[in-house]
Amino acid sequence: MLGLLGWCTGITFYPEQVGIGVPQAVVGDEAQSFCYNVRESMAQLATTNNTFDGTILIPSDGHSFGQARDQYASVTFAQAMAPSVIVLVESESDVQAAVKFASQCEYSVSIRSGGHSYLGTSSCDSSKGQCLQIDVTGLNIREILPAQAKIGPGNRLRDAAEFLKQNGRFVPTGECPGVALGGHMQTGGFGLFARHFGPFVNRVGGFRIVLADGEVHDIVTPSEETSTLNDDIFYAVLGGASGSWGVVTEMTLNTIADEDFFSVYWKLGYWWDTPEDTEGIVNMMRTFSEMANEKIDDTRWSIHASVVGAKNLPGLGNRIQLEFSWVAPMEQKDEYDFDFFQKIDSACTGCTRFRYINVTEPLSQIWRHRYLRTLIDETTGREFPLPYTRSMQSLQAIPQPDGMESIVRATAALMPGRFSPHFVISQITTINEANINRALPWQQDKIGITLDYFYIPPTEWVIDHEQRALNFAKVLRDASDGEDHRMYWAAFDNPVMEKDWPKYFDNEEKFRRLQGIKQKYDPTNIFQNKMSIPMPTEGELDLATAANMQAINGTATTTNNSFFDQEECAVGSLVESCTETS
Ligand SMILES: Cc1cc2nc3c(=O)[nH]c(=O)nc-3n(C[C@H](O)[C@H](O)[C@H](O)COP(=O)(O)OP(=O)(O)OC[C@H]3O[C@@H](n4cnc5c(N)ncnc54)[C@H](O)[C@@H]3O)c2cc1C
Repeated sequence: MLGLLGWCTGITFYPEQVGIGVPQAVVGDEAQSFCYNVRESMAQLATTNNTFDGTILIPSDGHSFGQARDQYASVTFAQAMAPSVIVLVESESDVQAAVKFASQCEYSVSIRSGGHSYLGTSSCDSSKGQCLQIDVTGLNIREILPAQAKIGPGNRLRDAAEFLKQNGRFVPTGECPGVALGGHMQTGGFGLFARHFGPFVNRVGGFRIVLADGEVHDIVTPSEETSTLNDDIFYAVLGGASGSWGVVTEMTLNTIADEDFFSVYWKLGYWWDTPEDTEGIVNMMRTFSEMANEKIDDTRWSIHASVVGAKNLPGLGNRIQLEFSWVAPMEQKDEYDFDFFQKIDSACTGCTRFRYINVTEPLSQIWRHRYLRTLIDETTGREFPLPYTRSMQSLQAIPQPDGMESIVRATAALMPGRFSPHFVISQITTINEANINRALPWQQDKIGITLDYFYIPPTEWVIDHEQRALNFAKVLRDASDGEDHRMYWAAFDNPVMEKDWPKYFDNEEKFRRLQGIKQKYDPTNIFQNKMSIPMPTEGELDLATAANMQAINGTATTTNNSFFDQEECAVGSLVESCTETS
């Protein structure tokens, strides 16, 4: 693929510092006292020596609670980032205790790792029903294994990449340093290297998870020996609506060894200030389109374009950056064609280039040229401080040169002028077709384009910005196939899963199968968020059951959810063990 870039019933109240709300359904003094004395109750429920090592915060904890609930989406959806209780866990046993407590005391559960969901799906809104947020930042082990690595979900992308680099290993991920692996392993992990190796989700070979029953399950890559539960959960967690299934406490990554690959990285940066710049960039992106279409079957090359419109931010400016990678098994290194990428640079006629990097380095080291590290605020962990609206489309076809030109001109129209109080980021990333036993949708698409549109209040601007973002999405669809494909990680426009699922899932069979899995393993719908898989209604139950039976019997018709398909690799993947089958 090639790409541009809830709630349970009950009441919530906070009687005093030591106690939490008493749910309506719980009757009897003993049960009331159990749900009220949350700290003691969690210790009783903890499996390890009856001790609870984590921290429990409620709104009356003031500043600590406020800090803990703050996350990337808070600037845009502040009112909705309001859990009744936040549990900062330190161990798997803490997670079990929190899930059992939530279940017995009728809290819904949202799960947070890095808090980088754009819609805030790792938080919850206690005004809609009492809810408990489990924060797994403290679960951050890192351990190297032969050809694999064991990693905790609380690790941020930059820490995991640095750890792997020290061990000569690599996995493809997305772009932002503050994103954590807990969410990333479920929502994709699309970036420059996805075209060579598939998205991050495809590198997850197994994980440990606490399900709604409060038990830990060790999930491995499906095979004929694995159980239905194993295979259902593997499928659902890896791309089937993050936070709907249970709390992931650890994951095993199938890593890529630096020494097996020859890798070249280029970065070109051009200012985008004047109408002349726009014409040069139009020309360059038309060339991008021609090259991308010409090389569509050769997954050794990848291109990622990012536009940053930041004219009014000190030290920045309006600009476009193109990144290229050429990655091949070592024995093919002589096939690298320097002139191919050079063509793009020379197509930017009259442009002012401010950056040029061209390195041949091991995969794990290329990361240091890539992270948006200068933009991260170490106190909040956020990359960008302003509220935002956004849009994103995943397209089945790479736009032809005319389509690409319309996208560049639409982007130019959104670029901030010297006095306009906003900035934009738009990204174009090349990604790869895949055929795997994970639910991640739209992997067979060819290009995905995102727009992040930041604004400075007053709030009346929001409406204007939302409309602009939606208009931009239409330009993208019109430039390609017209289909409205959206990716979970980049959800926008206040999705309601009950009706919007066709935009987020490739086909009905996949969505119904996920509803069936939800019904089986989380029958009381404890794990909920804005975009979690809705329980099947009575009318949908037969469809959900049928989709599950088809999957279990291996008769599912879609290409990328073959239940017993052991092949984990993207079609055309550069990973050696993947290249024989497709
Ligand atoms: C600035 C920015 C840039 C981004 N760039 C990219 C990019 O280039 N490529 C890309 O693919 N994505 C990108 N993303 C999207 C990001 O990868 C996803 O939103 C990812 O899911 C965030 O993971 P998190 O753990 O940080 O977020 P969280 O908000 O903590 O979690 C995200 C989701 O995963 C669930 N979840 C988190 N941890 C667990 C767990 N341990 N067990 C079960 N469920 C869990 C949450 O409930 C939530 O639904 C970007 C996001 C931001 C804000």
